[in-house]
Amino acid sequence: MTFAVHGIAVARGIAIGRAVVMGSGRADVAHYFIQPSQVEAEIERIRAGRNAVVEEIHRLQQTISTMGPKEAPHELSALLDVHLMLLQDEELISGIKHWITDRLYNAEWALTTQLEALSRQFDDMEDEYLRERKADLEQVAERILRYMKGIATPVQPPAPRRKTQQDLLLDDSVDVPLVLVAHDLSPADMLQFKQSVFAGFVTDVGGKTSHTAIVARSLDIPAVVGARAASNLVRQDDWVIIDGDSGVMIVDPSPIILAEYGFKQRQVELERGRLGRLRHTPAVTLDGQKVELLANIELPDDAEAALKAGAVGVGLFRSEFLFMGRNGEMPDEEEQYLAYRKAVEGMQGLPVTIRTLDVGADKPLDDNERDEAHLNPALGLRAIRWSLAEPEMFRIQLRAILRASVHGKVNLLIPMIAHATEIRQTLSLIDFARAELDNRGVAYGPVEIGAMIEIPAAALSLRTFLKYFDFLSIGTNDLIQYTLAIDRADESVAHLYDPCHPAVLRLVADTIAECRRQGKSVSVCGEMAGDTQFTRLLLGLGLRSFSMHPAQILAVKQEVLRADTARLEKWAAEVVDSEDPAQALTA
Ligand code: PEP
Ligand code: MG
Repeated sequence: MTFAVHGIAVARGIAIGRAVVMGSGRADVAHYFIQPSQVEAEIERIRAGRNAVVEEIHRLQQTISTMGPKEAPHELSALLDVHLMLLQDEELISGIKHWITDRLYNAEWALTTQLEALSRQFDDMEDEYLRERKADLEQVAERILRYMKGIATPVQPPAPRRKTQQDLLLDDSVDVPLVLVAHDLSPADMLQFKQSVFAGFVTDVGGKTSHTAIVARSLDIPAVVGARAASNLVRQDDWVIIDGDSGVMIVDPSPIILAEYGFKQRQVELERGRLGRLRHTPAVTLDGQKVELLANIELPDDAEAALKAGAVGVGLFRSEFLFMGRNGEMPDEEEQYLAYRKAVEGMQGLPVTIRTLDVGADKPLDDNERDEAHLNPALGLRAIRWSLAEPEMFRIQLRAILRASVHGKVNLLIPMIAHATEIRQTLSLIDFARAELDNRGVAYGPVEIGAMIEIPAAALSLRTFLKYFDFLSIGTNDLIQYTLAIDRADESVAHLYDPCHPAVLRLVADTIAECRRQGKSVSVCGEMAGDTQFTRLLLGLGLRSFSMHPAQILAVKQEVLRADTARLEKWAAEVVDSEDPAQALTA
């Protein structure tokens, strides 16, 4: 039966494929297709992993048998019996084999997929005792996965297969697109899916500018977040359509709906092809104003996509992604230096703005470190606050960035800064880092130092900011969150997250105007910069530098090429001053 699940549209386009429903915390498992010739080897890896766990349990049982009832209560041995039983369970084994043989999933992926399917069956059980065996099943799977980590994996995963033709839907072979449906994915999880097998994503939680959504957008495949119960409503392998434009997932679509979306999908492809021709066209408005279109990147390798999209530099390198998912181990100065240098060299002489670490809130360093200890992590020890609380680590990062600036034009950008004391401390730590490099006789280049305007207090203290900084970059994602007191990652208040609120637009407009008055450069690097709804407005407010995900650059360029800033100025001032800017924007 066809039904639709509504969420929040975050990355445009249409994906049609089979659902891969992923349980929480399963994103760290590799997902790739194997070759038919590797099927036996993959089954063997699973078998070896399972046998190792069986042996481990047998060993444990032997040890327990020599202990008294105090050290080893009877329940423990009963529990191990249950685990052994689960390991022999025919449904687990045959299910895993099915995903490997029929779908060519790698062994880990096959195991977690079958685990997900069985977990659902446990959830549906009436008997509480049996329902609770789900936790045992998960433990057993976890142990197998742990053993498999030590067993050599086959050669590198082959390239992802992405077919977009609607006629694939009639084909039940393995070679069909897959869409990932999960309760939640952390930004670091999302990052793992760059170059992945998935043609689209849906998550139950998240807001439009949550960091998970931002990374999903950078993958340039259709995505919907905040779809509430999606991961419960969809079953493994269901056919689904993800409409990333309207934020809808359609489950088990009828042939008529499929035909309609197949048509839409082709239209999207045609539009992409058309925009592709603008790649080498300079971004100049009708009245001759040059506009800088920069890229936001998460990893050094993203420089390639930035150049391909025609970016004239990187306006925001979110350096925190280098620090995530490392079990608390920070990259040292050399590792960071090499990563920043790679991004700088990757941009082939174009400027790169490296933002210092912005962890905290919805960007934990490790997934198991989600900040539940603090009531309001978004208002807590985040970004520059974190760095100033860890000055040793901050100086390591500063030294690495300063060293990378020998290899090209580098700007240093400070996130979430609000107080004059923070500004002074930050600048003196930068001086300190330079002095340390001097003492070591290590070369570094000149950098311009800028601040992000993402807290209303910063937008209202421009005189101080412009006294100390060379440039400003407006982080609208956080500026909206903090101006309107709306958690950007919380889907339950997503309808109140409003870039068009007059207060937000006033802060953006004043920041741009003040920078222009003082001859300092200013850009917008929040998601507003890549949203074509706002291009004309921002141009009218005087903005000439936009930083966004590479995938959005060409669509924004098209708007720039059609704009006449002389005519937009008066209109933009009226929009900002109006009671309902969203309406004035479309009038
Ligand atoms: C912003 O807040 O607008 C921004 C660009 O930073 P981030 O999205 O990484 O918080
Ligand atoms: Mg921010």
